[in-house]
Amino acid sequence: MKQIPRLILCISILVLIVFLSSSELYARAGGGGGGGGGGFSSGSSSGGGEPETILIMIGIVFIVSVSGFISSSSKKKRLNKEKKIFLINNPDFDPEAFKKKVELSFFAIQDAWSRKDLTKVRKYISDGFYQRFISQFKMMDTFLQTNVLSKIRLKKLHIDSYKEDGPFDIIHIEIDGSMKDQLKCELKSSINKKNNGSFTEFWSFIRKKNHIAKDLYSTDLCPNCEAKLQPLGKASKCSYCNCILNSGKFDWVLYKITQSSAYDKEYSISKKAAIHAKIGELKKIDPEFSVQSIENKASNAYLQILLSHTKKDLSLVRRFVTNKIFFQLEEALPKETEVFNQLCLNEINLINAASKNGKHIVAISLCSTGQKVILKDDKLKLKDQKIAFQSMVIFLTCDDSGAKNPDTLYTHNCPSCGKDIIDSLDINCIHCGEQLNLFENDWIVSGYMPKKEYEESYTYNTSEELESLIW
Ligand SMILES: [Zn+2]
Ligand SMILES: [Zn+2]
Repeated sequence: MKQIPRLILCISILVLIVFLSSSELYARAGGGGGGGGGGFSSGSSSGGGEPETILIMIGIVFIVSVSGFISSSSKKKRLNKEKKIFLINNPDFDPEAFKKKVELSFFAIQDAWSRKDLTKVRKYISDGFYQRFISQFKMMDTFLQTNVLSKIRLKKLHIDSYKEDGPFDIIHIEIDGSMKDQLKCELKSSINKKNNGSFTEFWSFIRKKNHIAKDLYSTDLCPNCEAKLQPLGKASKCSYCNCILNSGKFDWVLYKITQSSAYDKEYSISKKAAIHAKIGELKKIDPEFSVQSIENKASNAYLQILLSHTKKDLSLVRRFVTNKIFFQLEEALPKETEVFNQLCLNEINLINAASKNGKHIVAISLCSTGQKVILKDDKLKLKDQKIAFQSMVIFLTCDDSGAKNPDTLYTHNCPSCGKDIIDSLDINCIHCGEQLNLFENDWIVSGYMPKKEYEESYTYNTSEELESLIW
C-alpha cells in the first residue's frame, strides 16, 4: 500500500527530470528553447539507497524502456506506411541526396544566424521562416545583442515522418547536434549567456507535389531561367524572370525548426484530429489551402506585430491587418520601448476553422518565450525577471473563393499588380492603387487575443463558436 504513493512520487520525479532536461533554454538559430521556468534543481530524494527504492527505480526504468520500445515500434510502422505512400507519389525520391541538402542547410543556417544575414539561404527558406528570423534579428539589434554559434556538429539526422498538406509534401527531419552558443549584449552583461551542449531539433521541409526537380542548394543559378541569382532579400525571387524560388515548385524548402518538446506536442495532440474534418472541407473548396502555409502567415504576422510594438511602427503590419485591428494595435502601443530578450516562437497550431457568409476564418494558437526588457536612453531594465511564456490566438479571415494571389501580401508584393510593396501606413498599393488588406487578397489578421481569453470565450473550440466572429 505504502508503495503506490511512493511509486507515483518516483514517476513524478522522473517525469520532472525528463521534462526539465528537455525544456532547458538555449538560444541557437531561431531562438531554440522549449520554454519552462527553469531554475529548478532536481533535489536528491531522501533515502535514495534503500533496496525498496532501487527496486522501484528499476521497475520504472523497465516500464519506460518497454513503453519506449512499443512506441518506437509503432513509430516505425507509421513511418513505413507514410514512406510507402510518399514513394508511390515520388518514385524518384533519393533520400541520400535529400539528406545532403538538409546537412548543407543545417550549417548554412547556423552561419546565417550568427551573422544575422539570410542572403545565402534565402532561396530555400520559406517566407514565414525568413520573416521570423528577420524579426528576431531586428529585435536583437534594438538592444545590441549578438548570438554567435561555433563548434557546430551534426551528429545524426534521420527522416521522422512524411506528410501531405494540400498541394505539398512535407518531410520532418530529426537532427541531433551540438554547438557552442554565446549570447552577448552590449547594453547589459547580466543577460549574457554561454551554452555548450547537445540538442535535438526537428527541421521541416515542404515541396509542391507537382514540382519540377531542380536544385536550389548547391547552385546559384535560377532554376527557371538559369541566370545567376542576385543577392536575395525580402522576396525569394529571380530578378530576371521574376519566378518565385521558394514556392516549393523547384525544390525542398525549409519552413520550420521545432524543438523536440514542442514537436511531440504539436504532432500528437488534438490539433489535426479535432478539426480534421474542417481542414478537409477547406481543402476541397480551395485546393491550394494548406495548414503549414496558414500557420506560416500567422507566425509571420505575430512576430511582426511584436516588432511593430517594439519599434512603435505600425507600418510593418498595416498591409495584412483589418482596419479594426489596426486601431486596436494602435491603442495597445506600449508607452515604453519594450524589447524581447531571447524571443522564440515555440509552437504554432491551427486550432479552429469556420466558414460563413462567403468567408473562412481560422484560429491559430501561438506560444512564444522571451524576456521583456525596457530600453531607455541606451540602458536596459529587466521587466520580466526570467524568460516567460506568452500564448496568443490569432484569427485570420479570407474570402471563401480563395486568395487572389496567395503568398504575395506577406512577402511584400501587391496581390493585384505583383509589384513590390514598401512598409507604409497607406493601405493602397503605390503602383496600382489596390487596397491591400482585403479578404479577397489574402488571409488577413481579423482578431487576436491571449490564449486564456480564447479558452474562456470559446469553451468548446467548435466551428459554430468561431462563426460568430465572421460578420
Ligand atoms: Zn530566373
Ligand atoms: Zn499593385
